[in-house]
Amino acid sequence: MWYEEIGSSDPEIFGLIKDEVSRQREGLEMIPSENFTSPAVMQAVGSVLTNKYSEGYPGKRYYGGNQYADAVERTAIERAKTLFGVPHVNVQPYSGSPANMEVYLAVCKPGDVICGQSLSEGGHLTHGFKTSMTGQIFKSVQYGVREDGYMDIEGARRLILESRPKLIWVGSTAYTREFPFKEFAVMADEVGAYLAADISHISGLVVGGVHESPVNYAHIVTTTTHKTLRGPRGAMIMVTEKGIRKDPELPEKIDKTVFPGMQGGPHDHVTAGIAIALLEASRPQFKEYASQIVRNARALANGLSARGIKLVTGGTDNHMVLVDLTPFGPGRGVFVQEALDAVNITTNKNTVPKDPAPPFYPSGLRLGTPALTTRGMKEPEMEAIAGMIAEVIMKVKDNELPQEREQRIAQIRKFRESLRADASLQQMRRRVVELSSRFPLYPSMRI
Ligand SMILES: *Cc1c(COP(=O)(O)O)cnc(C)c1O
Repeated sequence: MWYEEIGSSDPEIFGLIKDEVSRQREGLEMIPSENFTSPAVMQAVGSVLTNKYSEGYPGKRYYGGNQYADAVERTAIERAKTLFGVPHVNVQPYSGSPANMEVYLAVCKPGDVICGQSLSEGGHLTHGFKTSMTGQIFKSVQYGVREDGYMDIEGARRLILESRPKLIWVGSTAYTREFPFKEFAVMADEVGAYLAADISHISGLVVGGVHESPVNYAHIVTTTTHKTLRGPRGAMIMVTEKGIRKDPELPEKIDKTVFPGMQGGPHDHVTAGIAIALLEASRPQFKEYASQIVRNARALANGLSARGIKLVTGGTDNHMVLVDLTPFGPGRGVFVQEALDAVNITTNKNTVPKDPAPPFYPSGLRLGTPALTTRGMKEPEMEAIAGMIAEVIMKVKDNELPQEREQRIAQIRKFRESLRADASLQQMRRRVVELSSRFPLYPSMRI
């Protein structure tokens, strides 16, 4: 049995982990930032490396006993350098958000102008959104997307020439098309800014050769390791050749900001997991995996479009599909997400560009194929899933969001209860469980 030690020492947490295993097995995981990491990666994260303190960098640690931790970190660094084609990598950031903060502090001073894609139009919190520290410490200017959902390159250009930021971010959490890295590089070079590409969502696609790499265009590249890259929760900061040409001290600046600037001891167990994930991603099967992710996203997009569902930009180039529910009225995302939850299809409500509803009750739905592709699903399954999602959307599309906040909460609670009693949803849920069971998740994990 797996986790038998947890079972005997803490039955309460064991029960919850067991329930989570079942939830993952019996559902369709379609949140684009999630994935199923390999058992090897999970074992590394649960290994004795969690016991070690290694403040500093390989060969320059503040504690003894680091000969193996050094080798683990050097291996992770070398694998990342080879895989992404960059001269410098820091694998210590605890996660994507601290990694991005470390980039700011390495190249900016508080009060500097920084520029990123706005959260409501696909960007990440850490790219200068007002509730994030990054939007408070720095003067943040934000670009967005055009009416048709594609990146507003002309708008970004005007903004950048006018505000002359010190640091520009390209990369986002809800954008379904190729990122225009080259165009942003031209703008950054024109104003002498650092260009940081945050490829958290697409790093697996970049490594797999199905999305252009930003390495020739950006000075700095950040990525989480747990999304399409399929590793443990963590992040990396890379400095490119172009970055070193702009600023020969950039690698040291980044390293110093990560430690001791922002963080203490690195999570050596995660570093080992990252090293394993990078090895897995260097194998030919990973290229096949990455291209299947994109084929699956296209099949999903086509299946939804064929059923009259509107998509932001009309389709996808990557692992993600953004459903635009505004034709049914504002704020429908929450109802669709709740109804899909009731049939074990896990998704997330998301804003659409120029969303008429507030961000907590947005008018879109974000879907992704990385996790389902890891389970082995292909185009026929995506077509079947598109059919079920479209059916659910049509079923709940007329639910309106009340204006008043208290009423909203009550209405959503009532809606959730009505879902539980719905016979057609119960039947669809059984179909989802049956479909999932044909693609076993962690078959060797007997729990
Ligand atoms: C997920 C993500 C992050 C943040 O990662 P966390 O590990 O959740 O902190 C940063 N940037 C982008 C573009 C992301 O998609």
